[in-house]
Amino acid sequence: MQESVMKAWWDSSHMAGGNAAYVEELYEAYLENPQSVAETWRQVFDSLPKVDGVELESNHTSIRDQFRKLASLGPMARMGAPVATTTGVSDDKQVKVLQLINAYRFRGHQHANLDPLGLWKQERVRDLELSHHSLSEQDFDTVFNVGSYAIGQETMSLGELFKSLNRTYCESIGAEYMHITDTEQKRWIQQRLESVQADPTISREDKLNILKGLTAADGMEKYLGAKFPGAKRFSLEGGDALIPMLKGLITEAGKGGTKEVVIGMAHRGRLNVLVNVLGKNPSVLFDEFSGKHDESLGSGDVKYHAGFSSDFATPGGNVHLALAFNPSHLEIVNPVVMGSVRARLERRNNDANMVLPVTIHGDSAIAGQGVVQETFNMSETRGFAVGGTVRIVINNQVGFTTSKTEDTRSTQYCTDIAKMVQAPIFHVNSDDPEAVLFVTKLALDYRNKFKKDVVIDLVCYRRHGHNEADEPNATQPLMYQKIKKHPVPRQIYADQLVAEGVIEARDSEKMLDDYRAALDHGACVVEEWRPMTEHSVDWSPFLGHDWDAPYDSAISVEKLKELGEKITSYPESHKLQSRVNKLYQDRKAMIAGDKLLDWGMAETLAYADIVDRGNAIRMTGQDSGRGTFFHRHAVLHNQTDASTYMPLKHVREGQGDIDIYDSVLSEEAVMAFEYGYATAEPTCLTIWEAQFGDFANGAQVVFDQFLSSGEAKWGRLCGLTVLLPHGYEGQGPEHSSARLERFLQLCADHNWQVCIPSTPAQVFNMLRRQVIRPMRKPLIVMSPKSLLRHPLATSSLEDLSDGVFHNVIGEIDELDPKKVKRVVMCSGKVYYDLLEQRRKNEQTDVAIIRLEQLYPFPQEECAQVVANYSHVKDWVWCQEEPQNQGAWYSSQHHFWQAIPEGAKLTYAGRQASASPAVGYVSVHNQQQKALVEDALTIK
Ligand code: AMP
Repeated sequence: MQESVMKAWWDSSHMAGGNAAYVEELYEAYLENPQSVAETWRQVFDSLPKVDGVELESNHTSIRDQFRKLASLGPMARMGAPVATTTGVSDDKQVKVLQLINAYRFRGHQHANLDPLGLWKQERVRDLELSHHSLSEQDFDTVFNVGSYAIGQETMSLGELFKSLNRTYCESIGAEYMHITDTEQKRWIQQRLESVQADPTISREDKLNILKGLTAADGMEKYLGAKFPGAKRFSLEGGDALIPMLKGLITEAGKGGTKEVVIGMAHRGRLNVLVNVLGKNPSVLFDEFSGKHDESLGSGDVKYHAGFSSDFATPGGNVHLALAFNPSHLEIVNPVVMGSVRARLERRNNDANMVLPVTIHGDSAIAGQGVVQETFNMSETRGFAVGGTVRIVINNQVGFTTSKTEDTRSTQYCTDIAKMVQAPIFHVNSDDPEAVLFVTKLALDYRNKFKKDVVIDLVCYRRHGHNEADEPNATQPLMYQKIKKHPVPRQIYADQLVAEGVIEARDSEKMLDDYRAALDHGACVVEEWRPMTEHSVDWSPFLGHDWDAPYDSAISVEKLKELGEKITSYPESHKLQSRVNKLYQDRKAMIAGDKLLDWGMAETLAYADIVDRGNAIRMTGQDSGRGTFFHRHAVLHNQTDASTYMPLKHVREGQGDIDIYDSVLSEEAVMAFEYGYATAEPTCLTIWEAQFGDFANGAQVVFDQFLSSGEAKWGRLCGLTVLLPHGYEGQGPEHSSARLERFLQLCADHNWQVCIPSTPAQVFNMLRRQVIRPMRKPLIVMSPKSLLRHPLATSSLEDLSDGVFHNVIGEIDELDPKKVKRVVMCSGKVYYDLLEQRRKNEQTDVAIIRLEQLYPFPQEECAQVVANYSHVKDWVWCQEEPQNQGAWYSSQHHFWQAIPEGAKLTYAGRQASASPAVGYVSVHNQQQKALVEDALTIK
């Protein structure tokens, strides 16, 4: 160490000034990133001992002491000569001991006993060997300062310390947390692990509860296996510890004041969790195995996708449990759970401790599926945070038939993805259920304290094949030879308790017999089960409504003006960007009646009315605050200090909440999140907006598996609104089509609404209708792009005030119906192209009808409009999309039903095409002109 540096350091008198913690902080910062500290400090820290070039965290107190001593000694000592420490050993060895501690904190998990089958080949980690640190058993009796090692004593003999490190970091728990940069979090975890050597005393009651849980887990699978041999149940066997783990987690959460726990899991072990944790009646499950089903549900779903809700008694009061329904797409339920939790948290004043999300993953899926990364990325963002999720991996080391890690992932652990948000990861051997319970409590406390995600990697195995019809020996012979001989977790733990004298052998057998008897009886087997009282939403007002039931939503022009005033007002000090300012000036003119309303104004007025009625609004999407096409500007950015202001939050005292978030750049997880939110909160207008409609492609799983079919499969209503900009404006294949045909193809059983509003008044009343009507169905909207500024796409305040969304709009020009020879039906932007061309042509023999709602098809309203043209035989469906896309094939049967009997229906539009649109504007223009001409030309 250079003397001048040392002198500079000491002269700075940080130590002398009692500011020793400052040095520690600097040192911490240096360890994370050497460039983050000043050059002089870097030189000081660089001079500290290293191992293999790797800078390991040394004990800070001792480093401080060392600096102090060096500073007070002569130049020789400062140059690095060994000096005595408080324990009387050389500094050199002392530092090595501290490095040994650090090595265990960093890499102890690599030597931990995590695999119940003992098949893992663990690499030798030299950092964990004494010799690597120039220490040996000869030093075992020497007492060293252990610095921040949180064992409760400042000094320990090396022998004691080495034993303690191995117990803490290399037994049944492998803790990975040193990737966390926040010192407080790291210290907190160290304190929790090291103070009890990762092995706390467990009460007799807890031990018995663990055994009961394992007995239930095992008993349930054996019972199903015997009663329904060969039937698919995706047995939990091998991962039995999940049952006492979940019950422990819920109990601890309840003790800490949690009121709701929302769980998402794939199919493995689900039946077991349903019966043994949520308290589903076994007889109901057995009925399902026998083929009986709930007649009230539409299509229903297989039993291992079913959700369930109940309450669970804990010493802190009842906790409401909700296991989310989910399809086979393994990890997609996780953002759904997060969205549901977000809605519940908002109802509970955003107190994260009140609602706990728990997601249960498979080892191959958590590493393999991209939506997991999306949810980690969302986990700490403004619009999507849920105060941290406890994520449990049922790591049975096999993904379907793929067990070799070189085939399933490129990371050491399946959980490495969690490091992207610096979540702590606790790997635990599932055959040690006490260790499992210990890390479960630790994870829960961490989540509640730091409001961050935390992962438990429950390392287990899968006793049978992927399902019960599968033969695992065919693909995993060695593993399954081992599994065959491996005792079940219940047996291992019962033997342990017998050896400890906690129970007698016959007690364990009796426990199993009692459990089987309870299953025979068919009643609930969860002692803590309670009937539901803790959930906070009553869905009954929203059940059983038809889409076309009448509703009252008229609004006076005066009220519109009053709302308009509010949403165009903002503090004078809030300086708007010039284009935004112009837009707001225009809006003021619209309210004054000097201008017709454009799309943005009508849409914003709808939001104002909704919050004024007391309903909340949540909108997320790509550029939602501003609007992709610069039309919304619901969030105003002050040009002087970048602060934001939302006029919609200032409509009236006590109004409904409104939140508009620019979302993370994901479609799949965000859509799934919003689905989860909307299925948990019926009173809020929940909207997801795509930047361009085709971006919804990235969320196809959510449309297919949840939004279109969730009600039919699971009876879960959802009022989510999806705004998908759509329209052929020459922008090429990617940004023209929101793939209307895909949404129409999924229409059946009145599962959702597909609308294409064409005027500001229509968007105003469509959005309001979605909240005012008690029906809760998803609303898919082909929303506009160029129509946002189209001179004909305007409305007056009077147009808005009738309050009605017109599912069909008849001819608006004064044509004499009797002279009409052709009727063109269409939806969306092409209407204006047709209208303008017809006016240009001065044609009076072609009427144009707009279908503003394509599904559910408005037969009655259509019939009323069509009645004016009952004499017309020539009917045309005109669309911008290629023939194989858009509404032509998907909705044609409705059009045929709508037109007069005996009339013919022809198509005017682009030819069928593999691509949604051409890439050249000139070709686009030609096509557009031709299809309009085609529609208007009577042959
Ligand atoms: P949860 O809080 O999700 O456990 O829901 C409690 C109860 O509310 C459920 O058992 C259902 O009866 C009802 N419920 C919850 N969500 C919905 C929904 N999206 N649609 C209809 N009913 C629901």
